[in-house]
Amino acid sequence: MERSEYRQKGKQIVRNVGDKYHEHVFTKIAPVLGKATDAVGPAISDLQLFSTAYKESLLIKQLAKKRRKDHPPRTRDKIKAVAGIAQTVSTGLYLINNARTPTAEKLGLEEKEYDHEAEVNFVIQKINERQDSQSLSFEEIVPLAYHAVTDFLEEVDGYRTESSKKIKKSIWGRTIRRRLGAAGLTTIQMGGEIVAFSDKIPEVPAHEFAHGKGVHSETQAQIISVIAQIESGNPSLEYIGYQQWLRILMQSNREKDPIPFLEERNLNPRTLKELTDQRSFFQKESQTRTGVSRGVATVGKVVYDMLPQHTQEKATKINHYLDKVLPTAINTLRKNPEQTIEQAIHTIMLKAQGQGDAKTAYARKPAALLANYREGNSEHS
Ligand SMILES: [Zn+2]
Repeated sequence: MERSEYRQKGKQIVRNVGDKYHEHVFTKIAPVLGKATDAVGPAISDLQLFSTAYKESLLIKQLAKKRRKDHPPRTRDKIKAVAGIAQTVSTGLYLINNARTPTAEKLGLEEKEYDHEAEVNFVIQKINERQDSQSLSFEEIVPLAYHAVTDFLEEVDGYRTESSKKIKKSIWGRTIRRRLGAAGLTTIQMGGEIVAFSDKIPEVPAHEFAHGKGVHSETQAQIISVIAQIESGNPSLEYIGYQQWLRILMQSNREKDPIPFLEERNLNPRTLKELTDQRSFFQKESQTRTGVSRGVATVGKVVYDMLPQHTQEKATKINHYLDKVLPTAINTLRKNPEQTIEQAIHTIMLKAQGQGDAKTAYARKPAALLANYREGNSEHS
């Protein structure tokens, strides 16, 4: 066998394991963990977001510690260690899904070269046809998006995957939005608990529910979110799905100012206003962030320069330590607080997940796959 054949075969075996695992194990776990997390009112992830590093170091300590009879571990430490183990196990349970066959492949979609202009015009036309659809609040979108994504994936996979049905508000919403530009998060360590950092982006529920059902790739979550909503049969969800598609197109081929670009192409006033409002909201948020973090960075530098040399050396050691224990995302921002939100997401995605940069994962690849989806659909109809 050629080397590439071996690689191909290896890939196939890993995929089989991922697919079987998802169908027979994950589908049993996700509903149970989902129910458990849904039963808790506040977002557990809020606690977890800032304590992951601590808990993990504690877990390692607990595991490494030899049991001494004169100093039995305290109950509090035991609980923390159990929480750490549960979190680690739960992470593993979700991460095996990474090996699955991607949804796009199951749908027979490939990334194709496409005509951006034709694509934009098509999507605008679809949005305009649905401009009178009932406008939904974020809370109203959540259950509809859950059913749309669950039904859609059931059709694609051939079996149903239930998961956490709730989207909780994070108390760190503003901070995360400013620092990461993130709108939502599915915390796989917390039984697939989903938190939203903003209710300004209507496609967040569908995107996050795809993650909750064992889809880790951002590209796959994007196309699932779009297709599940535009095929849902609910005009309000279809509207949201096409709006997301338009946003993907705008991000993949960035116009200097998309609003006039879309206005010229006759996007209806309702959608134009929604997009303008979202843009100005997030711009305001990112400006606040830049001012604050610039101040922090400057003060930090001044203080560091004033320290005696041996203390500076200690600070450098602490810095190396933080590099190791903190998640990549936080380190990226810690080191370079003046970068824009987009640059930050870009770097985080690039380093943390190996999915390419943010623009590729969230926009370019989904746009190319969706173009192929549209091509396939027009062939059939
Ligand atoms: Zn995502």
